[in-house]
Amino acid sequence: MSILVVGSVALDSVETPFGNRKDILGGSATFFSLAASFFSKVDIVAVVGEDFPRRYVKLLKDNGVGTLGLSVNKGKTFRWKGRYDYDLNTAHTISTHLNVFKDFDPRVPKDLSRPEFLFLANIDPDLQYKVLSQVKRPKLVACDSMNYWINTKRRSLEKLLGGIDILLLNDAEARQLSGESNLIKAASSVISFGPKAVVIKRGEHGVLYFSSKAHFVAPAYLLETIYDPTGAGDTFAGGMVGYLSRVGSINEAAIRKSIIYGSIMASFTVEDFSVNRLLKISRKDIKDRFDHYRKITSF
Ligand code: AMP
Repeated sequence: MSILVVGSVALDSVETPFGNRKDILGGSATFFSLAASFFSKVDIVAVVGEDFPRRYVKLLKDNGVGTLGLSVNKGKTFRWKGRYDYDLNTAHTISTHLNVFKDFDPRVPKDLSRPEFLFLANIDPDLQYKVLSQVKRPKLVACDSMNYWINTKRRSLEKLLGGIDILLLNDAEARQLSGESNLIKAASSVISFGPKAVVIKRGEHGVLYFSSKAHFVAPAYLLETIYDPTGAGDTFAGGMVGYLSRVGSINEAAIRKSIIYGSIMASFTVEDFSVNRLLKISRKDIKDRFDHYRKITSF
């Protein structure tokens, strides 16, 4: 089955206790699509500026990501600069330069307007909404957001939530959006905005899934070496939606398994900067980690 993703394609500058990198490939749609490409056909809708290195577009294509919906507009590429301290669960944003995203008017190419799965990756909720309204209703619409948009575009985000199936966000964002400090209460409050289910990402503490019918709890895959958590959330979503698209089903059992695949994919991303680790793994590495995960969580 096919997946369409709208989100950011970015040049990130990242500082972690283990090193600094400048203008490396990042963006929510980038991490998502590279992770999802291990499972399913995936196409991107995004914009970059004229300064975006051509080799990164080639990298996406070479890894099976469709770039028909990637526009190159006049101006500079979106840039995000962030820092992590020893508590790698919290990203501290130093700067966000929207650049070409400021005037971006996304157009979903006709050939991509009937995706079976749609992922609205972290980006301005008005742009997410524009993409949602240009496609035939997919089998599943999942969506991510972040503190930046909850602060600056809450109304737009609330309108968007009325049209989606699953919202993914981290624990701090769930608290911020709902005004509830308890995560069970936060999840029901988020569900009251419209989504059928919510996935709360808690970094090294794993993931919580809530729908009106079921709850599911998954620990993160245990890792000794973490270099850069940037993109973990988007990679998680890529593994999750990618798996659901591959099996073509969204029943409870498939959702649970998809959450484990999401966790496994994210565990690779954090082992290096940018998408470097994702580019080196094979399907066998994913399967090996999945089998190991099953062993260490069974009792
Ligand atoms: P995460 O998976 O949450 O770690 O997402 C990290 C990615 O989100 C980085 O590669 C950034 O380029 C991107 N990002 C950061 N801030 C924003 C924003 N306000 N809108 C869209 N994308 C962003």
